[in-house]
Amino acid sequence: GVDLRNKLYATLKSMFGFNQFRHRQKMAITSILKGHDTFVLMPTGAGKSLCYQLPAILSDGVTIVVSPLKSLIEDQTSKMRELGIPCEQLTSELSTDDQESIYTRLGALKPDIKLLYVTPEKISASGRLNSVFFDLHKRGLLARFVIDEAHCVSQWGHDFRPDYTKLHTLRERYTNPKVPIVALTATATPKIVTDARNHLGMKDSKLFISSFVRDNLKYDLIPKASKSLINVVEKMKQLYPGKSGIIYCLSRKECETVQMMLIKSGVSAEVYHAGLNDTTRVTVQRRWLANRVDVICATIAFGMGIDKPDVRFVIHYSLPKSIEGYYQETGRAGRDGLPSYCLMLYSYHDHIRLRRMIEEGNTTTGVRMMHLQNVLQIVAYCENVSVCRRKMLVEHFGEVYDEQTCRTSKTPCDICDRKRKNPEAIRLFDVSDEAKMLM
Ligand code: ADP
Ligand code: MG
Ligand code: ZN
Repeated sequence: GVDLRNKLYATLKSMFGFNQFRHRQKMAITSILKGHDTFVLMPTGAGKSLCYQLPAILSDGVTIVVSPLKSLIEDQTSKMRELGIPCEQLTSELSTDDQESIYTRLGALKPDIKLLYVTPEKISASGRLNSVFFDLHKRGLLARFVIDEAHCVSQWGHDFRPDYTKLHTLRERYTNPKVPIVALTATATPKIVTDARNHLGMKDSKLFISSFVRDNLKYDLIPKASKSLINVVEKMKQLYPGKSGIIYCLSRKECETVQMMLIKSGVSAEVYHAGLNDTTRVTVQRRWLANRVDVICATIAFGMGIDKPDVRFVIHYSLPKSIEGYYQETGRAGRDGLPSYCLMLYSYHDHIRLRRMIEEGNTTTGVRMMHLQNVLQIVAYCENVSVCRRKMLVEHFGEVYDEQTCRTSKTPCDICDRKRKNPEAIRLFDVSDEAKMLM
């Protein structure tokens, strides 16, 4: 009713400093406040966090948020604290004393914590934490469970975390009354959504989806040849001097090669990959967020949940592992709404390399087949010469898109751009010579 509406706007303004809700936020928040299981499917940067943070403030008791990465948790909790929202995190990094002090506060008659962030590992591993949840539940103080990055539950997703699959225990354990579950993700094909809803025991959840179209991103693709990296570096230097960017690579070594090239061209660049220790990674991330370094050469380990508004370009120096992965990674560009550039360097050789990596990986046949399938889809995206790239990307997520929109936009994709300039032209992108050499 009117009361709830007023309360939502008042809280939005007083706690978050915003005047308007973004697309679908208000509907999702209302559903969550009514106690429905709710599935929020919105692209990166759309503002999913607010959908559970605002209800947490308005609800009695504690909202438990499961998040896959410590860096994400760190980022969220520090933002909450700045806003003066009572928020804590429980990760394995905390000292026993600090953990105990949080448990004690949760045991209080009226806990002074509104949001508690935890890792899925903590939920599977800590009996203490679960008994605290039980106690809260018994006292009617367990407001809801929030599963952020819910696609991690699905083997079909690009970020599968085994501990996420154990989260079905949340639904099974906390019944009578049932504790509502909220799941959020930016990466979900219809298949993954179904999978996640089943896994989490929320088949009947309300689903809120907003469009995955990113109007301000220009998708481009060029064949990867020996000279292309230096050309790209020069072009970025010219178009976006001193601006932030990410270059995604397939291996640590590749990250270093690209970094060297950038530095030689006078661009400030650092690497970020699984081979660095946590401290170094955090430092690199902070330096980039603070504009102390411009370009990060990274494997996919970089960027999840990072909210930097002014990333002007995302370059894939090597083939991403799936269309979802590509969409997610390019989605880190242009969150401020300004035109930004997403370039893929494609070579058939990288396709073979990626396939080899998957074939050598130690996993079950089913999972391997799934990864190979994903690679074939991204290869089809790359080798496509006639369909708008935006269309291919959003239709992968089940959305309908009219190419005309891309063709007439300020940042048309390479295919639409070509069609616009010369409607008769068909892209000649012949990989067969290279392929012959390799086979
Ligand atoms: P997501 O999780 O969907 O990727 P976030 O929750 O991190 O996105 O939000 C992205 C950014 O959008 C944040 O900086 C957040 O403060 C901002 N934001 C969210 N909702 C609104 C709103 N209604 N008005 C203005 N900014 C908003
Ligand atoms: Mg998020
Ligand atoms: Zn297009």
